[in-house]
Amino acid sequence: MHRLTGVGASPGIAIGVAHVLASRVEIHERRIAVLEVDAEIARFEQALRDTDEQLARIQAQLAATEGDDHQYRILEAHRLMLSDVHLVERARRMIRDEQTAAEWAVRKALDQIQAVFDKIEDPYFRDRKSDVALVGERLLRTLVGRREHASAEHAPKGCIAVAHELSPADAAQLGRADAAGFCTEGGGRTSHTAIVARALGLPYVVGVEGLGHQVWSGMTVVIDGFRGEVILDPDEEALRRYQARAAVHGARSQRLAAIRDLRAQTQDGSVVHLSANVEMLEEIPIAVDLGAESVGLFRTEFLYLERNELPTEEEQYAHAVAALHSAAGRPITFRTLDLGGDKLPPSVRIPLGTNPAMGLRSIRYSLKRTDVFRTQLRALYRAAAEGPTQILLPLISGVAELRAAKDLCAAVRDELRRQNVRYAEQVPLGVMVETPSAALITDLLAAECDFLSIGTNDLIQYALAADREDEHVGYLYHPLHPAILRALRQIVVGAERMGKPVAMCGDMAGDPMLAWVLIGLGLRNLSMAPRQIPVVKSIIRSTEIADAERLLAQALTMSTETEIEELVYGAMNRRFALELNDGEDDRPTG
Ligand code: PEP
Ligand code: MG
Repeated sequence: MHRLTGVGASPGIAIGVAHVLASRVEIHERRIAVLEVDAEIARFEQALRDTDEQLARIQAQLAATEGDDHQYRILEAHRLMLSDVHLVERARRMIRDEQTAAEWAVRKALDQIQAVFDKIEDPYFRDRKSDVALVGERLLRTLVGRREHASAEHAPKGCIAVAHELSPADAAQLGRADAAGFCTEGGGRTSHTAIVARALGLPYVVGVEGLGHQVWSGMTVVIDGFRGEVILDPDEEALRRYQARAAVHGARSQRLAAIRDLRAQTQDGSVVHLSANVEMLEEIPIAVDLGAESVGLFRTEFLYLERNELPTEEEQYAHAVAALHSAAGRPITFRTLDLGGDKLPPSVRIPLGTNPAMGLRSIRYSLKRTDVFRTQLRALYRAAAEGPTQILLPLISGVAELRAAKDLCAAVRDELRRQNVRYAEQVPLGVMVETPSAALITDLLAAECDFLSIGTNDLIQYALAADREDEHVGYLYHPLHPAILRALRQIVVGAERMGKPVAMCGDMAGDPMLAWVLIGLGLRNLSMAPRQIPVVKSIIRSTEIADAERLLAQALTMSTETEIEELVYGAMNRRFALELNDGEDDRPTG
């Protein structure tokens, strides 16, 4: 048994047999000049040495921890492959005789070796092909200096997919193949792949150093997406413990799946509209499947973050129309570009200033770069003709910004009309309330827009002056701070006074612990990560509005976030033990 630590990117426990994905690096044929041959061979040899060093480092880590002999020997074999004549000599000869770039020579040599493995009947030796692929792809990654995505084809049902890196598309494919979970050496908690994993409800651990050389297909693996741990070859006791935890989660998921098609209606008949926050097209069918009644927040900037060029109007239009088709008649609220701050696309230069979170970001950037903004608005008004659409403006801090954005929207509609382009004239325009100023003047904003949506992620950071990205001030970031509760109440009252609907789309909306506080505040429209919908719905369905209102009223009498948290978490844990218990108390030792 061997426990590796990474970062939990999608919660849950998965137990299964490892399926190691040979992550094939994309290599294109490249020729070199005769004069460059010696330098190219030197580069190849340096890559061999660097790759060997990487493997030696992992071996040393292994020896320093549990000293698993079997894995140590596998690594030894992998290192030997780096001096194997079939690989090294063949590649060297190709560089010299055919004047090819080193990576192309390695790719060709690998293909030839793997073709030989394919002909072997014995399954044990045939499976060694994945070892050659692991070493070969590592060498190629060293040569090209980058990481490439794995292919997720042919993953067996219930497997734990293991890869160097996974693309969001791979994750979606693994979900379709019914994989139980996955883990990668690279990747990050906030990567798009992690978003897809969370949407699919598949446990995912990222950043597991040395993973690729300590696991092989067929090995039993446990993924603990809560704690960011991967357990290779667990002993019986550990296996039993994780099976028990997995059973708690499984039972909970089944209970929740049973209410999938039911409405989020309280015991006394109030209906809460539950919608999904999505960043990528792949998430929409998953959200629909989980019971999302609409897409309450489509973070459009993700289309910009993934590419080097700005997306064209046609691309954005096609993307929005595809989203609307995928939502099959459910309305989509497209939030306009929220770039800047921590979201910096390679295609535009945004001055960071000394404090990017308070700098030229979001609607401020859009109103400065009206060419970029108008292109997006044209695409959205055109797409709106193809399905129910709303447009939502992020980070509005005053009425002037709202008016400026509305003027641009009107100008875009005028232009489309004059050009005889098909578009929708009536598209509800909403304002995100995520700055303290917007919270204080919600009524003024509500008077001039069609709907509001509370972005608590930003509202909390600005109201409490605690950067949401900075772990040093993370201790200040409390959704249940009295100031936040008061701000939320003021927003809801302000919107109601003007007769405008108000939703919440920050992470607070999807926290089942906070469901009563939000309902008590009068919120009836919550947009959240798709995976949260069933549990929040389950809580709402067993709620009496009066209970929620009482809890909120009591919370509003308290002076500190600690008191309020004790009150709210205590009440929710007592009342919803089944929904909220995820078996986390059963912490393993060792
Ligand atoms: C928010 O700030 O609450 C929000 C929903 O927007 P984002 O998380 O994309 O900043
Ligand atoms: Mg925000």
